[in-house]
Amino acid sequence: RAAIEQKQLDVHYQPIIDIGSHRVMGLEALLRWKHPLHGFVAPGRFIGVAEETGLIVPIGEFVLERVMSDAARWREMGWSPVPVAVNISAVQLQRSDLPGTIRRLTQLHGMKPSMLQAELTESAVFEHREARSGESSEDGISRLRELGVRVAIDDFGTGYSSLSYLKRWRVDYVKIDRSFVRDLVTDMSDLAIVGAIIAMARHLNIQVVAEGIEGWQQLEKLRQLQCNLAQGFLFAKPTPA
Ligand code: C2E
Ligand code: MG
Ligand code: MG
Repeated sequence: RAAIEQKQLDVHYQPIIDIGSHRVMGLEALLRWKHPLHGFVAPGRFIGVAEETGLIVPIGEFVLERVMSDAARWREMGWSPVPVAVNISAVQLQRSDLPGTIRRLTQLHGMKPSMLQAELTESAVFEHREARSGESSEDGISRLRELGVRVAIDDFGTGYSSLSYLKRWRVDYVKIDRSFVRDLVTDMSDLAIVGAIIAMARHLNIQVVAEGIEGWQQLEKLRQLQCNLAQGFLFAKPTPA
């Protein structure tokens, strides 16, 4: 609570790179907490608590607001716009009117909803569906899609991997989790899994982002497998706006 009030939260950005051209095709917004005594606190340490307490709702709004005002500033500076991906927690989908918030903020900041990507984990999609008992076409993810917001499945392959939702929500991106990419060059099982995800996504017209690229050999493997997008320390660490 104090971190929000005392403006200790910040958003950093990490580029998403086209493997063919090495151009920046997008950015992922990542939440940062600079504590006056404890220094930098990683999101993995406080997002869970923020979800339990419901504080993730105002924090999530802060992130969206910051992303859109940064994007507006970059536009004014003459940079060509790139889509920005924002991590969305299941709690935000369940306990707030996220589509309404995004509609309001995009209008306020003059951002096209198609320039925004919502990154949802498989478990967020699953919990969301459970909470809504499945069938309603009015659910939050469908409303996001109707607004024009792009949907990315984050940490793909680590959750329930119920593949039916890829079709159901016309998912735009899957992000292959770092745990499969890390040993891609040496581990034949990882190679098989990553290759299969890329092939499946290509046939479904879904773009693939490989997460956590740290070395050139990994990148070369991904290029051979015809993965189109990559993100990782090899290109850039998350950095201030
Ligand atoms: P994520 O969405 O999967 O984000 C990618 C994480 O991998 C980031 O960690 C990023 O700094 C890290 N990363 C990127 N490239 C590399 C690499 O080459 N090597 C290694 N070792 N790591 C890399 P970060 O920033 O600590 O975020 C952790 C998680 O916290 C995120 O995972 C996301 O699930 C969550 N998160 C971050 N910001 C937000 C937010 O605004 N809202 C919500 N709900 N969750 C957030
Ligand atoms: Mg993410
Ligand atoms: Mg991820």
